[in-house]
Amino acid sequence: MNLISVIVPCWNEEETIPIYYEHMCPVMDAIDADCELIFVDDGSQDATLSEMKKLSEKDARCQYLSFSRNFGKEAAIYAGLCKAKGDYVVVMDVDLQDPPELLPKMYEMVKSGICDSVATRRSDRTGEPVIRSFLSENFYKFINKISKTQLVYGARDYRIMCRKMVDAVLQMSEYNRFSKGIFSWVGFRTEWLEYENVERSAGETKWSLRQLFKYSLEGITGFSVAPLSVAAVLGVVFCGVSFLMILFLVIRTLIWGDPVAGWPSMVCVILFMGGIQLLCMGIMGEYLSKTYLESKHRPIYIVRSSSYEKE
Ligand code: UDP
Ligand code: MG
Repeated sequence: MNLISVIVPCWNEEETIPIYYEHMCPVMDAIDADCELIFVDDGSQDATLSEMKKLSEKDARCQYLSFSRNFGKEAAIYAGLCKAKGDYVVVMDVDLQDPPELLPKMYEMVKSGICDSVATRRSDRTGEPVIRSFLSENFYKFINKISKTQLVYGARDYRIMCRKMVDAVLQMSEYNRFSKGIFSWVGFRTEWLEYENVERSAGETKWSLRQLFKYSLEGITGFSVAPLSVAAVLGVVFCGVSFLMILFLVIRTLIWGDPVAGWPSMVCVILFMGGIQLLCMGIMGEYLSKTYLESKHRPIYIVRSSSYEKE
């Protein structure tokens, strides 16, 4: 029988873990395959780890990994993928915003061979602040314009993948991880399932607007170098414009002479150019910092304790 590994990243989720397990049990029993749940504790401060330990003692299908500190959801997903032994691997949030009831259908679809992966997207974003939906919608439009790696609007990390695809994702051992881009970059045939937005079962979202902004920068710098070209193009355009302006001023002075005027406009131009230069340097700095972190080859995560140690 096939084995399905379900990776569940958790950060301060003591309330949601038992609810999640309760919902997963009937699904795992009904599905026509063996299942293992790999809980990844992403450096939680609350009783998340002890909840995981309880489950792993009670149910042999439950495993856990606990990080030495908070490394982020991307690192937790990667750690889970490294440990997953399944023929099929699922990534799923613990807060039930990724409905476990969809899993049997997703499994049937990949198993039938019509696709290598079944991914999910939200058909609406009810319950989310308007500004957040607006920013997120425009982020997707923007990144799809400037990158060859296409992202689907409203895509969740919730998906099932065949072993080949998981191995491909594991080969991408980059430090700055952006899973949505990585899943798209590796290719394979992906089918999309839609579902309506579900509210969290308990607790609160861990994403602040600032973190989402950082996350979108990760996506842009990880999968497109277009901003660097934009910086170069801006440089060329402004050189051209300034050349024409110089030509104009020289000719005007030769013909009409030059009373001293135009100080305010000069200051505006200097400020504007200074701004553009700083922006371009900022863009370059962003890529440079990513290269710097990547070149250090630091581990993506560090495990403090896990149920695998007993083996
Ligand atoms: N998560 C994590 N590490 C983090 C942030 C989040 O492992 O640094 C987990 C979290 O426990 C949850 C999932 O990632 O299982 C999604 O987080 P959340 O529900 O806060 O995000 P949202 O659903 O609002 O996008
Ligand atoms: Mg959530």
